[in-house]
Amino acid sequence: MSARSWFSEQLLSWYEEEHRDLPWRRTKDPYRIWLSEVMLQQTRVEQGVGYYERFLDAFPTVHALAAASERKVLRLWQGLGYYSRARNLHAAARQVVLEHGGRFPADHTALRALPGVGDYTAAAVASIAFGLHHAVVDGNVYRVLARVFDIDTPIDSTEGRRRFRDLASSLLPATDAGTHNQAVMELGALICTPRKPGCTNCPVASWCLALAQDRVASLPVKQGRTRVRDRWFHYIWVQKGDFAYLQERPAGDIWQGLWEPPLIEGRRKLGTRAVTSALQELTGEGSWRLIGPQHKVRHILSHQHLHTRFWTAELPEGVHVPASWVAIPKRALDRYPMPRLVERSTYLLARMPTKNGTSGPEA
Ligand code: SF4
Repeated sequence: MSARSWFSEQLLSWYEEEHRDLPWRRTKDPYRIWLSEVMLQQTRVEQGVGYYERFLDAFPTVHALAAASERKVLRLWQGLGYYSRARNLHAAARQVVLEHGGRFPADHTALRALPGVGDYTAAAVASIAFGLHHAVVDGNVYRVLARVFDIDTPIDSTEGRRRFRDLASSLLPATDAGTHNQAVMELGALICTPRKPGCTNCPVASWCLALAQDRVASLPVKQGRTRVRDRWFHYIWVQKGDFAYLQERPAGDIWQGLWEPPLIEGRRKLGTRAVTSALQELTGEGSWRLIGPQHKVRHILSHQHLHTRFWTAELPEGVHVPASWVAIPKRALDRYPMPRLVERSTYLLARMPTKNGTSGPEA
């Protein structure tokens, strides 16, 4: 037996005994497998299961997802982050319905042509749902292969991507590529973890070059870190009677299509006086009285650190609000998809006394 087929055999028998029983592993339905693969990118499995089940309750088929409104899709996605994935998911469902009659194509190239579907997702769906001979390469696979084969080519270099992709393909068994792929990923998730890997329980330890050479902690290698950008978001929950103002996040920035209260973004932290004058400038009105900041959150995204602060204010009389501000009844705010940190600040509105009971805004 060659070393490579030994590797696959060890992995498969370990996987059969030890794999986690997850809902998307009980099906070959490409819609469900695709959904789980998109949801689980950048999301912990424990968190992903609840989202997966709620999504399937709301959209049991690709037709149901394609027919849904973007707002509903984003609302169900709320809290998972990386919202472009949700928009792509929605667009891909529509494409599957329009161009493939509602059936996922059993073909890597056609899957790859769907919005938001990269090499990884296309290979996962092709191999797991359709049994096609394609290797997946995700963070777990990079880590396992870099260690087992002692490869220090940076995984974020062109050469590294090509080398690991070729190696992963060469390890595929003749049949059931889908289970082999899941087994490598599961080993990376459960045993060959980034820190403190469980080498003593590892099914391929006897053939792991990094373990033999005491190089586990230094693999895999990455060549460069992405620069992180700091941003300062100053939010004002503006109310008038039983209404509060929201605006939709614009295209081309984080959280596109989600909703938030009026925002003053600065290049540094601003105090109440500076936020008030920015608001005066924005609305042409001088009598704003801000309360706060009452709520502060630092939020870390992959390439951005957001420093957010929240104020509340009553809309002054006679103000013409910017066209982007939309007055929403407070009781209906939960119908609008919001970034999780914004949603968590809505308690501030509940604390605000209303001046004029149930009257709505004039603007
Ligand atoms: S022996 Fe340790 S480093 Fe090697 S593959 Fe197993 S868990 Fe990873």
